Amino acid sequence: MQRFDDARHAALEMRPDQPVYCFRPEVLKADARRFMALFSGKTAYAVKTNGEPMVLKTLAEAGVRAFDVASPAEFAAVRGVAPDAEMLYMHPVKAQSDIRLALEGYGIRTIAVDHEDEVTKLTRVVRALDVDPGGLTVFVRLQTKGHAAYELSKKFGAAPAQAVELLRRLARTGYRVGLCFHVGSQIEDPDTYERALASADWVRNRAGVPLAALDVGGGFPAEYGHDPNRRKPVLPSLEEIMARLDADIAEWGFDDLPLVAEPGRVIVARAFSLIVRVLLRKGRRLYINDGIWASLSDSWTGKITLPARFIADPAIRSRNGDPANIVPFRVCGATCDSVDILSRPFWLPETVDTGDWIEIGHIGAYSMALRTRFNGFYPDTFVEVTTPFDEGSAPEGFASLETMAD
Ligand SMILES: *Cc1c(COP(=O)(O)O)cnc(C)c1O
Repeated sequence: MQRFDDARHAALEMRPDQPVYCFRPEVLKADARRFMALFSGKTAYAVKTNGEPMVLKTLAEAGVRAFDVASPAEFAAVRGVAPDAEMLYMHPVKAQSDIRLALEGYGIRTIAVDHEDEVTKLTRVVRALDVDPGGLTVFVRLQTKGHAAYELSKKFGAAPAQAVELLRRLARTGYRVGLCFHVGSQIEDPDTYERALASADWVRNRAGVPLAALDVGGGFPAEYGHDPNRRKPVLPSLEEIMARLDADIAEWGFDDLPLVAEPGRVIVARAFSLIVRVLLRKGRRLYINDGIWASLSDSWTGKITLPARFIADPAIRSRNGDPANIVPFRVCGATCDSVDILSRPFWLPETVDTGDWIEIGHIGAYSMALRTRFNGFYPDTFVEVTTPFDEGSAPEGFASLETMAD
């Protein structure tokens, strides 16, 4: 992979017409280590957030020993770069053939369920393979209600009374049992974990079976940019959130159990930025070479403020306007689809023109993982960058949270 000091150097040397992902392995390692230092249990990185081999490999180098996986492709991706890493198969609804592959082919011994039929599937495989159920830890996934910018928690989970039944049934069969939940992504309210812990406590007390572990899922918020037109949202720091979580875990009496967390976004968001090119400026519209069907589907739902750095093309000799004047632009994506217009405007110097580049920061989570081949556009160029996005000249632009009239 080519290496550059920063995205500006990459853009000016490569003059890329295709989107370029700027990978910052040192930032990834630092953010992974920061999380592991703040969490007192096992950190299992959620592979779906960004499953690129370079990410998994760098995390293994940073000391991440466990990975939350959901599919055979994720099993293979982890095994391919970190052969000794532990995998936790935490998807609650699984194909029986995938359960078999997990147990037989990958030696996975930690699995989540949220329904009795999943237990039936699992036990069928366990019997067929003649595996001792006591060698497996089965987590019962609890339903949670919370406030997260991205609601990933509603679809799965057993209601508390149902979870009690599942724990008893699993324990009777001889499995080691645990409780897990996932509160959604980018939580906005630190009470969210406490509500889930209260529910886990209720279930534990009624089930009356010994628990082997508690898994608090993901959802830890990443830091994004700030829209100077708005008051700074009062999101607590990760240190505060983790201290609060620790205190809640102790208060609800779970601190004597082995703990697991499944962070995704908070570990990988800052590890990548994206260089896009302005293919055309048409008035206050910018047509760029990426969009909602490629790297910008999650990022542009308007729930986070992404920072942006303007990289002027020095080949453009004359410009209109004042570069210090930051104004909103409507951003149109690369495909022919009319929905491929970012819902929020992008604030940039009014001098931006056809041929310039924009570096969009903190897009490591749920961006390359969600890109499609729609219309034949599939960004897949990576470079390594050594300077963190937030160092050097401050980014002058940002994706606003305000909507824009055309
Ligand atoms: C998506 C997911 C995660 C990771 O969530 P983040 O908000 O990115 O930390 C963790 N656990 C489960 C079960 C998930 O589905």
